[in-house]
Amino acid sequence: MATTLVTGGTVVSSTGAVPMDVLVDGERIASLHVPGGAPAGAVEGARVVDATGCYVVPGGIDVHTHMELPFGGTSASDTFATGTAAAAWGGTTTIVDFAVQTPGQDVEAQLAAWQAKAEGQCAIDYGLHMILGGVDDAALKAMDTLVAHEGVTSFKLFTAYPGVFYSDDGQVLRAMQVARENGAMIMMHAENGIAIDVLAAQAAARGDLAPVQHGLTRPPVLEGEATNRVIALAEVAGETPVYFVHLSATQALEAVARARDAGRNVFAETCPQYLYLTLEDQLGSPGEGGFEGAKWVASPPLRSKHESHRADLWKGLRTDDLAIVSTDHCPFCFADQKSLGRDDFRKIPNGMGGVEHRMDLVYQGVVEGRLSLERWVETCSTTPARMFGMYPAKGVIAPGSDADLVVYDPAARTRISVETHHMNLDHSSWEGFEVDGGVRTVLSRGEVVVDAGSSSLRAGHGRFVRRGLSSYLR
Ligand SMILES: [Zn+2]
Repeated sequence: MATTLVTGGTVVSSTGAVPMDVLVDGERIASLHVPGGAPAGAVEGARVVDATGCYVVPGGIDVHTHMELPFGGTSASDTFATGTAAAAWGGTTTIVDFAVQTPGQDVEAQLAAWQAKAEGQCAIDYGLHMILGGVDDAALKAMDTLVAHEGVTSFKLFTAYPGVFYSDDGQVLRAMQVARENGAMIMMHAENGIAIDVLAAQAAARGDLAPVQHGLTRPPVLEGEATNRVIALAEVAGETPVYFVHLSATQALEAVARARDAGRNVFAETCPQYLYLTLEDQLGSPGEGGFEGAKWVASPPLRSKHESHRADLWKGLRTDDLAIVSTDHCPFCFADQKSLGRDDFRKIPNGMGGVEHRMDLVYQGVVEGRLSLERWVETCSTTPARMFGMYPAKGVIAPGSDADLVVYDPAARTRISVETHHMNLDHSSWEGFEVDGGVRTVLSRGEVVVDAGSSSLRAGHGRFVRRGLSSYLR
């Protein structure tokens, strides 16, 4: 017996858009019907969600968030509770966050620590990747355990942040060799951190300490270089699949496209900030006594508007050289966190908040003719589910799948502001942005959690998602 009927809408998948009614039974999708075609007996007593004039899409999946991440002497300002609630307001019903291990720490103990932070706190379903900041024999062994027993099947390594998360080429290679055997996905933050630290120290020594220096000392060629190097290491490791996070630069995209053209299992995501914002207009903002740019300090940095990065990234999304849009949500408040770097850009905590706005900002690409409706669903929900072992429970509207649904109103208009967002953040990286379309209703595992501007979101509704291996490698 159905519990909810979503009626009158157009169901959008990665392959098409068709008017259909969706019957939900408990936490799962029961069946799909031509409009009005559900048997009367099956819908008796069901709650009706009117989706007339709206798209009905699988709930958004953001595979790159950092709730409560400790960084630079402070922690990301969204907790698992506040960040997942904000995600739901924006039409995202699953996040995959990152547990963190640094040199000398025990991987399984760190995973347990992150599980404890998230458990009972999340308003929507959540999974975890594992950051390996200290690749050693014990960490390599733990990779097998996490894949086999913990539902954690992806590991993030860094060629950036020497002394914090950095892995040298030998460490990257060894982790790739393990992933080659156990089927895990290696995720890479690819920037040449050693060279960047030299450039940043030289800028500081010159007295160039403003936020824009964060971007000028992390040039795009150093993202391209690291991306090429990692792709070479993956080949040497025996064609290990690799997934580049937050790709921002043309040089890196060219490396990924070349590898994909050669048939390699190389994947990449980008983030809304790299599609819209720039080094000059945001990071270089003269506001707040020359410090406002700190709001947009993140790594990789926003790229120059005088180069082709943004247009190339949109093109990459169309051609599938970029498979996914995630947010890298890692918010720090301006007043008491970003300000740690007021006298030195190197001390500004790295990250932006955006988990609430991804679905709207990518939908704007549909409005502007950059992407198809189907590609919006594919890059924001279906491919994330398939890439990280959650499909078909997530990422598709089909009988048996979790009833994670978003009723999206193309006639709505969304104005983004700190005044109206739900993230625990004292500013918005997107202040004043206005986009067509907006989230009307959100179901998380069958429960209506957001509807017409009100919510029944609650900490603890969200469950841990034990993930399998990537669908793209089988
Ligand atoms: Zn990140």
